[in-house]
Amino acid sequence: MDLIKLSNALIPDTDLLAPEEYESIYPPRNLEKGALVTRLAPSPTGFIHLGNLYSALADERAAHTTGGIFYLRIEDTDEKRKVDGAVESVIRSLKYFGIKFDEGAEIDSPLNNYGPYYQRQRAKIYRSFAKKLIAQGLAYPCFCSAEELDATREKQTQNKETTGYYGAYAKCRNLSEAEIYENLAKNKPFVIRLKSQGSIENKFTFNDAIKGDITVTENDQDVVILKSDGIPTYHFAHAIDDHFMRTTLVIRGEEWLSSLPVHLELHKALGFKPPRYAHTCSLMKMDGDTKRKLSKRKDPELSLDYYRKAGYYPLAVVKYLMTVLNSNFEEWELKNPDGDYRDFKFKIDKMGKSGALFDLEKLCDVSKTEISKLSAEQCYDFLKEWVDEFGTQTDKTHFADKEYIIKVLNLVMGTSGKKRRKDIERAEQGVRLIDYFFDDTFKVKDEYKYDKKTVNEVLKSFAELYDPADDNSAWFAKVKQVAGKVGFATEMSDYKANPEKYTGNVSNAAEIIRIAVTGSANSPDLCTIMSILGKERSLKRLAEGRV
Ligand code: GLU
Repeated sequence: MDLIKLSNALIPDTDLLAPEEYESIYPPRNLEKGALVTRLAPSPTGFIHLGNLYSALADERAAHTTGGIFYLRIEDTDEKRKVDGAVESVIRSLKYFGIKFDEGAEIDSPLNNYGPYYQRQRAKIYRSFAKKLIAQGLAYPCFCSAEELDATREKQTQNKETTGYYGAYAKCRNLSEAEIYENLAKNKPFVIRLKSQGSIENKFTFNDAIKGDITVTENDQDVVILKSDGIPTYHFAHAIDDHFMRTTLVIRGEEWLSSLPVHLELHKALGFKPPRYAHTCSLMKMDGDTKRKLSKRKDPELSLDYYRKAGYYPLAVVKYLMTVLNSNFEEWELKNPDGDYRDFKFKIDKMGKSGALFDLEKLCDVSKTEISKLSAEQCYDFLKEWVDEFGTQTDKTHFADKEYIIKVLNLVMGTSGKKRRKDIERAEQGVRLIDYFFDDTFKVKDEYKYDKKTVNEVLKSFAELYDPADDNSAWFAKVKQVAGKVGFATEMSDYKANPEKYTGNVSNAAEIIRIAVTGSANSPDLCTIMSILGKERSLKRLAEGRV
């Protein structure tokens, strides 16, 4: 068969460059030895998830700890799944978590020498190489219709055989020259398939950067490389793009591991040295007693937007993911509580080999700790950013009074003392936590544990005694006085010695006042809260707290 003629008949484009030319258009990168080139290659579906961030963080760390490059490529070959604004959303979401690309789609960088970074704009490169493979007898046209392929699949399933296009099932593999031209003359649509040279009789060992040595079976499937509309499949685009964008380490989800033999065969057919691969394990969660994969349908926490809406501190999400990526990060953090996570020596081979557990509760703890390290001013900025994007109009009005919120935060975070409070775990919860400092959002949530008479007596007497000029101890002496008035023990030691003698103690009296003033039985220092609220408002709450 005249293969050159065939390649011209199948890919008649006159504007293609010769495959060799691409080697000089995209030369090997001029980087230090050991520098890794990594990429994030999402499809622009508009759904950016935790797995993307997990991978991106590994990519970014691997590149930037070795003096390499981390770039963004958009895998937009599937037009149907494309969503407007999805690329900007990937960049914005990752930037929120402090992850930046060095080059790539929509990245303003002088380094953008390996583009275009959108696969749809790279059609000529794929077609040039598909043509070469046809001319070499390593690829061929397939005219099978969807119905024929379905019938084959059904038959294979019935026979309990591997499904796909291979061996005797690869009908178009052995079409004669005459048959091919006859189909072309009839304008029958066709795809281009790889003519696999592999055999499932052969196994080989492959070294994955995360999973270590893995024994796999050679590929024998004649996979599609160009679809009937001339657009490449993921397999073909991956081999060509990662070669010409000079990726040295492909970090991707373990769902791609089963296609690895196809990818290695494609690299061989194309004459490329394959990159190193690192297949990451899936993110899992505990569901009752069982561990399962995070699912788009069931778990809102899979979406990255979830973390922004709930207001987790972005650095906390990154730090928590670092512990999931490299389990020794936690130990490093303990030794370097104020260190920059970028100083930790991230190692790709220390990543978990199977099912990484993602625990929202742990993330909450990390988020609390990170927020507690902020100054009141920094915390204000963080909460304000959330309020601007997700808060109610009332929240916005509250946050317009920066001075007041800073006073509140100084108290709620304990910034004046040595021991910081960890009451704020995320922005949404933090904003709601301070609702009681404003009349329009103040609500009594907890119930008094005493009868009406006692409650009213405590609140009334305390209101009579309250003087905003009192310091903490004078304030507390007055609570004691009120406690004594309703028959509560004024000293805890007395109460502990003879609990049966009293109906309550001074801390029960304080709790009644606390519920009236803050709406809740738990709060930071009540004396300071009342001074922040001011005399008038405090007295109003003491009056309105009566039952
Ligand atoms: N577009 C592929 C995906 O989103 C990328 C896989 C890869 O990183 O190679 O799953």
